[in-house]
This record gives sequence, C-alpha cells and structure tokens, in this order.
Amino acid sequence: MKKKIRTTKTKIRKFSFFAEVLITLLIAVSIFRWYFQILPQPAIFVLVLITLLIATSVFRWYFQVLPQPSIFLFRNVELPKKSDRILVFSPHPDDETIATGGYILESVRANASVWIVVVMNGNWLHQEQKRYKEFEEATRVLGVAKENFFFLNYPDDTLDKQDSYQVRAEFEKIILEVKPNMIIFPDTRDKNPDHYTTGKIIKEIIAENSAIANNATLYQYLVHYHGYPSPNKLAPQLYLLPPIRLVSFDYEWKRVMLPQEIEEQKLEAILHYKSQLSRLRGPFSRKILLGFVRQNELFTVENQEKE
Ligand SMILES: [Zn+2]
Repeated sequence: MKKKIRTTKTKIRKFSFFAEVLITLLIAVSIFRWYFQILPQPAIFVLVLITLLIATSVFRWYFQVLPQPSIFLFRNVELPKKSDRILVFSPHPDDETIATGGYILESVRANASVWIVVVMNGNWLHQEQKRYKEFEEATRVLGVAKENFFFLNYPDDTLDKQDSYQVRAEFEKIILEVKPNMIIFPDTRDKNPDHYTTGKIIKEIIAENSAIANNATLYQYLVHYHGYPSPNKLAPQLYLLPPIRLVSFDYEWKRVMLPQEIEEQKLEAILHYKSQLSRLRGPFSRKILLGFVRQNELFTVENQEKE
C-alpha cells in the first residue's frame, strides 16, 4: 500500500514539475509576445535577459538544498573502528576524495583498513596518466596504502555501454577478495552515467548475495545533481546539505561531521586534482570539487522496508 502511495506521489511530483515548467514558459512567452508587439528591437534583448533570470530562479528554487540549520536534525554515520574493512567504489579518480575524503581520513586515523576501486580511467582529453598521478598524490594525503587500490581502467562516460556482466564480475571479485564490513558507493540517483551505473551494479550484486548485505554496512554518496552542492563554491564554514528533491522515505541521509583539521586535509587532497580544478575543464568541475569542502560529508542509507 505504502509503495503504491509512494509511486503515486512520485507521479504527482513529476507532473507538478512539468506543470511548473510549463506555466513558467507560458508566462515568459506571453510577456515576450506582449513586449514584442509594442516595443522596439532592443527591448527583445532585455526580455530575453529577464526570461533567463526567471528561468534560473525557478531552476534554483526547484533544485534547492535543505537550509543550513537542518544539519542538526541528521543522524551521524557510524565512525570507523580499528577492525573495519572499508571498500570505497570511486567511478572516477577524484570521487573518493570529493565525496568521502573526510571519512577516509577518519578511517585511516582510526587504523581501519581502506581499499579504493577506481572504475573509470579519467581519459577525457587523454589525461588518464595525469589523473592517475593526481589520484596517487591525493590518496597519499588521505593516507591510503598504494597496494589497496584497484584500477579497472574503463574509458570515461562508457560504463553504461559496457558489458554489464563483465563489470559485475570484476566488482564481485573485489568484494569477495576484500571482504568489507562497509561498502561506500555512488547513489543511483546521481546524474552522471558512470556514477549511477556503478551504484546500480553494486546494488544488483548485493541483492543477489545476501551474505554481502548481511556482513556489510552500505553507504551511498551523491556527487552530481542539479544545483548540488549549494552554493557550489569553496565555503568551508558551511554544511553540506542534500537536495530537497532527494529527501524521501526511500533513503535516510546521514552526516559525518569533520573536525577542522580533517576538513583542511581534505582540501589539501582535493587541490592535487589540478586537471579537474583547471579552468580548461570548464567551470562546473572546479565548483563541484571545491563545493565539497564543508564541515560535513553526507551518506545515504537505503530504507530496506520492502512490501
Ligand atoms: Zn565522477
């Protein structure tokens, strides 16, 4: 029953989104036509500008994150212990630091063991060697041992086109080898195909191997989503908060509060990803990387309730 209600709610949400966009467009077009009839040419440019401003505001309003004080309502994730075996799946060389750098630093500090699987090779602009070198430097700051890395070398932006059985077999082999009691992987609601495909494949493995699910805590993380993180700039005094659109009964959002020195070390690690911070990479990559330097990190835990 609850599932049915939830599906209906999702349908209503989707419908209301399109309705809102449609109404905004209709208003914009009406104003545009009205102006167009009575005003000379330069007014068109003013109108285009106003329309863009309205569209941007609607976008920002629709994809806003929860307000800063709501961080106090979140529960903490379990802090790492000495005996922990933590396996982090990072779609690209940098996601491990962006999303979980603080948690990895805390784990290393607690003498837990950390393994990192880098799925894609970061070959955009043939930069794979550079990206791997940056990964090595960043993870040295995080304190993860070199022999605990797995590189699967898939070219960027291709994971959803790869043979999923092969990828799955590779993931499964690593999980069985490491025997983690904690697996950290991308949230399947992430907008980047390499991210959500990594998440989807891990979920499939877990769904079919109850032993893995019973022995390991599963944490997911979000990197790419509209307007996330917000504000998308370096603001280390702020908290990282989830997009309102992704707050639902299906997932619980949990926080990891980072002591100041851990946050500083995370920034230091991020600064090693020079290729991603470069303006040549476009404005978004830089903004995302720096926007994740916050007083906390966020993980999602899927609600296991099945009806
Ligand atoms: Zn990525």
